[in-house]
Amino acid sequence: MPELPEIETIKLSLQKKIIGLKIQKIQILSPKSFIGNPNLASGQKILKIWRKGKLLGVDLAGQSTANRLPTTAESGRRKTEDGRQLILLFHLKMTGQIIWQGESGKGEGERFIGGHPTEDMLGKMPNTHTRVIFSFSDPLRPRSEASGSHLYFNDQRRFGWIKVTRSVILSEAKDLKNLGPEPLEKEFTWQILKQNLLRHKSMSVKAAIMDQSVVSGVGNIYSNEAMFNAKLDPRRKVSSLTDIEFKNVYKGIKKALETGIKHGGSTLAHFVDPEGRKGYFLDYAKVYGLDHHSCKVCGTEIKKISLAGRGTYFCPNCQK
Ligand SMILES: [Zn+2]
Repeated sequence: MPELPEIETIKLSLQKKIIGLKIQKIQILSPKSFIGNPNLASGQKILKIWRKGKLLGVDLAGQSTANRLPTTAESGRRKTEDGRQLILLFHLKMTGQIIWQGESGKGEGERFIGGHPTEDMLGKMPNTHTRVIFSFSDPLRPRSEASGSHLYFNDQRRFGWIKVTRSVILSEAKDLKNLGPEPLEKEFTWQILKQNLLRHKSMSVKAAIMDQSVVSGVGNIYSNEAMFNAKLDPRRKVSSLTDIEFKNVYKGIKKALETGIKHGGSTLAHFVDPEGRKGYFLDYAKVYGLDHHSCKVCGTEIKKISLAGRGTYFCPNCQK
């Protein structure tokens, strides 16, 4: 399942490609994958792309929303610019992929892929797992590569979704409500992490940091890496941590996520060619997926166990 660095990588890539473009058409091949009325989004211009936890948001502007006056109920609420947008939300869940392709679809920079890695994502689009297709036009540069580009939402198991929604007060939106703090924002401190973790005193630290209400965006890959960075045995109970160890978990999470983003996440985020490995975080992982390999720090063999039902990797020497 894609985690924070994967969605962040998609966000950064999409920002370069589709801001300012108009959604010309939305083709829904699987009704289950699209929630809401697609006509609300068709014809609208893309203003902003953001991420909250594992959710990707696209703010749209159009005559129908940008020029309207807020209702009485809305004007009494917190006035934020992004609080009333028409937005598209994307959740990739287990097997979702976002593939953007320029008009020709050939050559470096004309395609990027984010999400769950599969063989067929390198092939021709659309394919049998394509659920929704967005077509874009560029009102300012009708002959550019961006004009005529497409975004494919692929999803093998169809748990992922796209939703069009309107005038949402972000902090009250159902999909965002129970999300914990953003780990890469200033507001996230080790004390907040400690306080949230202490709601799960008897849980293992590694499982607890995967709870999206403790901290948002950390899944199995980065929780393994965070525990290695913190030099803590993933089986340690939350209740056993000292303040120094809470601080180390805090730093370990941030470091794992920042390294992930730096290397483009754990999927082939930037298509170069079928052998191209540009943007592949797992080459830089310290423990995830590395059972039977030697620890890069001390040489001890990395162990794999199952913890709270998830594959858990650690160095028995470095992590106590
Ligand atoms: Zn080690």
